[in-house]
Amino acid sequence: MVIDIHVHTRAIPGPNRKATGQTYATPEQLIEMYDEVGIDRAVILPGVTPECAFHIQSLQEVLSICERYPDRFIPFCNIDPRQVSNSPDADLGYLMEYYRDAGCKGIGELTANLYFDDPLVENLFAHAERVGLPVTFHVATQKGGTYGLIDDLNLPRFEAAVAKFPDLVFLCHSQAFWSEISGDVTEESRGGYPSGPVTEGGKAAELIRENPNVYGDLSAGSGFNAISRDPEFGYSFLEECQDKLLFGTDVCAPKNRDDVLVNLKNFMDDALKQGNISRTVYDKVMYQNAERLLGL
Ligand SMILES: [Zn+2]
Repeated sequence: MVIDIHVHTRAIPGPNRKATGQTYATPEQLIEMYDEVGIDRAVILPGVTPECAFHIQSLQEVLSICERYPDRFIPFCNIDPRQVSNSPDADLGYLMEYYRDAGCKGIGELTANLYFDDPLVENLFAHAERVGLPVTFHVATQKGGTYGLIDDLNLPRFEAAVAKFPDLVFLCHSQAFWSEISGDVTEESRGGYPSGPVTEGGKAAELIRENPNVYGDLSAGSGFNAISRDPEFGYSFLEECQDKLLFGTDVCAPKNRDDVLVNLKNFMDDALKQGNISRTVYDKVMYQNAERLLGL
């Protein structure tokens, strides 16, 4: 069994996204890709936030995809912190409960370009914590010209949120999170895919190690880079945090067949085959942690 904790899809393709020159894969295209490489199920993260959208997706579309393929897709809902009334006292929990009762297992990917400690974002976190749904988020390094919750070098605002919302499960994702796996990350390197040996003192590693509510979503080039840039570190981090790391792809287009669909999967398969990680670690990261966390 393999579960992808992070994917996007559109039942009805819209305009191509400029980043890829393609629109998202349809559910049928995804299933075909998954069958090729041996991925059984996937969490769909709806796109509801304008900062990174060429068109906005409805949560009803995602629910209907999951109803059509109940053994392949697991729905998350997504709520923008500005939704309902653009106010820190908006009752976002009302929406979360509705979608939780409709089968959604989490919230995200949060991509609003607001600071982690913006009152609108803290309101969303407080409601998610109370309703009991985990959040998947993308981190931005700046305001404007990008998407994601904004933080500074070494993630102080996120760290404060982790302490302020101890019962909220955070599924951490993106370059600005995973570049912090290494202690030598800089203002220049933190938004990208730094290479080379991982040094002591990385904030991402520390946050995952020390906080029961912080999990690592290993999807996309960013998660793959964190675990593979220094393979010896990667194997030992997988061993050490075997209950806190989750396999994912972040396939955003059919052309991702050649990169994020297979990169981490191949790394994990090879690590298992060559005895660099145990079957126990492999199974936890590839699906058991997702099953436990999402109550599948
Ligand atoms: Zn994503």
